[in-house]
Amino acid sequence: MIDPARKMDLLVSLAKRRGFIYPGSEIYGGFANSWDYGPYGSELKKNIKDAWWTRFVTGRADVVGVETPIIMNPRAWEASGHLETFSDPLVDCKKCKKRFRADHLLEEAGRDVKGLDMTGIACPDCGGELTDIRHFNLMFKTFIGVTEDDKNTAYMRPETAGGMFVAWKNVRDSLHRRLPLGVAQIGKAFRNEITPGNYIFRTREFDQMEIEYFVKPADAPAAFDAWLNEMKRWCEDVLKLDPKNVEYVEISEEERAFYSARTVDVEYKYPFGQKELYGLANRTDYDLSKHQEFSKENLTYLDPDTNERFIPFVIEPTWGLDRTVLAVLIEHLDIDEASTSEGDKEPRMVLRLPPRLAPVKAAVLPLQKKEDLVTIAESLASDLRSAGIAAEYDASASIGKRYRRQDEIGTPWCITVDQDSLQDQAVTIRDRDTMEQERVAVSDVRGWIEERLTS
Ligand code: ATP
Repeated sequence: MIDPARKMDLLVSLAKRRGFIYPGSEIYGGFANSWDYGPYGSELKKNIKDAWWTRFVTGRADVVGVETPIIMNPRAWEASGHLETFSDPLVDCKKCKKRFRADHLLEEAGRDVKGLDMTGIACPDCGGELTDIRHFNLMFKTFIGVTEDDKNTAYMRPETAGGMFVAWKNVRDSLHRRLPLGVAQIGKAFRNEITPGNYIFRTREFDQMEIEYFVKPADAPAAFDAWLNEMKRWCEDVLKLDPKNVEYVEISEEERAFYSARTVDVEYKYPFGQKELYGLANRTDYDLSKHQEFSKENLTYLDPDTNERFIPFVIEPTWGLDRTVLAVLIEHLDIDEASTSEGDKEPRMVLRLPPRLAPVKAAVLPLQKKEDLVTIAESLASDLRSAGIAAEYDASASIGKRYRRQDEIGTPWCITVDQDSLQDQAVTIRDRDTMEQERVAVSDVRGWIEERLTS
């Protein structure tokens, strides 16, 4: 067990040391709140994306995928209300000049956020007086073409959802599918956050995995419940988050967006507090109605059974990818004890990642750097890679150091090739979590791993 107060520091340092996450633009002195995903971090992120896509898009008959641009026609953001209302309430401390989100200060004080009544709230850092609230639009502006004027102003999308609503008409017309029909997308979103921070939790550019699930209005409540259950299953079965670290918070009518008929925030107990990991909303027919009004295109659906024409309701489950990476790393980072070669016990840091998400599935380690052992190990690693199993070959340093490195990057299985392997054509597979060892024939290793990856 790791003291929660130390967990973030341990994670940030491990993630940099082992190639998961580095500070962005570091050789130029850094760039606040930007992060590079290193070789293992990008692999972990990709494995999460793949698991999500397989589960919710290719694995289902009622969801299809799209990929829409980051920069869309600005009219789309006018229609969705983002241009006018996608803002955060901002206050500055008159004394220490620090900047805060008014809603966060109210939340921390246990006060009602609705109405943004800041009476009696002072700067949490120095007690200084706060300025009046200003509303700050979070969308990044950019210019298309050579002239920087209002006519050429465009916006970087603050969420991927907009693209799915705008593409709805084409998806509807090209597929002729019946409702319910979900449209899914994974991609970057950009928000000029006032208070970025907490490592990769709140950044100005991040990835979202979103589904707009179009349903008949009467089916919306049941679809909402079904997606809530799907989100729970995802957290428990895929990410292996302990259910006691995840809260499903029903958002009251006063606090949710005016168009939402129901919202549940999925919150994770990060070391810096319980915060939003995902969201689920019944957005009614708000988005399509707005886009229909602004685009003047018919965005309705004709029910083939009843001949009724209506604007579908939308259930929107949304998953932040970077917040998922952070929750997964935090959840599975652990320190236990391992035996040294002298038989003493020493602390061992280990990332107990679910095997399917681990960046490296198997490390093949010759016990000594002897040519015949090296040959078997290299060829085993290469066979595993050819079979689509991310495998590393490592012959550097002592076996203890190599185990430690693999434990810290979360590799579930270390395979050692020793002198006996030359006789019995077998290797020893060490389990990352139990540290138990099993002798397996070289020819069976691939099947042994595949069986465990799919179970
Ligand atoms: P918050 O209240 O934390 O600002 P939000 O309610 O504005 O979040 P949504 O608009 O619901 O967030 O965005 C959907 C998801 O996108 C969130 O649940 C979160 O996982 C992710 N997300 C939103 N903003 C950020 C950010 N600045 N950095 C990383 N992930 C983010």
